[in-house]
Amino acid sequence: MMISFNKQLIKTELEIKKMQAAGSLNDRVLREVKALIKPGVATRDLDAAAEEIIRDHGGIPTFKGYPGPYPYPATLTISINEEMVHGIPSGRTLTEGDIVSVDCGTTLDGYIGDSAFTTGVGEIDEEKQRLIEVTRESLFKGIEQMRPGKHIGDVGAAIQAHVEGAGYHVPQQYTGHGVGREMHEPPQVPNFGVPGQGMALREGMTIAIEPMVLVGTSRTQVLSDQWTVISADKSLTAHYEHTVAVTANGPLILTRYRED
Ligand code: MG
Ligand code: MG
Repeated sequence: MMISFNKQLIKTELEIKKMQAAGSLNDRVLREVKALIKPGVATRDLDAAAEEIIRDHGGIPTFKGYPGPYPYPATLTISINEEMVHGIPSGRTLTEGDIVSVDCGTTLDGYIGDSAFTTGVGEIDEEKQRLIEVTRESLFKGIEQMRPGKHIGDVGAAIQAHVEGAGYHVPQQYTGHGVGREMHEPPQVPNFGVPGQGMALREGMTIAIEPMVLVGTSRTQVLSDQWTVISADKSLTAHYEHTVAVTANGPLILTRYRED
């Protein structure tokens, strides 16, 4: 029992290299999608571009067909303004002043990279810019804790302290997660926690850290499409994510584009 549990949780160096290749391609997709974001673009066109890049490089869009209320129908999740995560690409077009969160998963050679960012459409005001910055910073506060001997509670506590210190909220129900051959592996990594509590982190663990931040509430609801998660008060939200390996030398971000 213990052996199979560890097998999923702890990756070999070779497995981490494969995840790095998947993560690099995933980041490339996000960078190219980000460059296409502007007023008037339909979210389904961003999705089509993402799928093409992934398939051109021999990858598989991890989200497409992902089990849920019904199989997830797209390559990206694109969540606009009060939509926090899991927004389904459609004919809806982006509007100047929107903030848009894009999440992507890429499977390459059997291993997965999972990452996300939020950005403004055209010009955005200072409040929106601040929300995006705080969310991005909180991701790196969490990543900084990803060291052998630290605990999952240290990661969540670091994210929570940064977000709540800025006057924002983290959700209760949506968390980061282990990732590798499967998109969601143990452990769950909440965006809140108590330092020193929860599972101890060990070398070879690979985890998607993903702070989701809401301006007005920690409560969320799911729209009638059964996927899109919004803030319960319809206040703005943002989301950043990286897949990170715990190594003896500290956290290694796997979802960064690497030339070669
Ligand atoms: Mg993701
Ligand atoms: Mg994720």
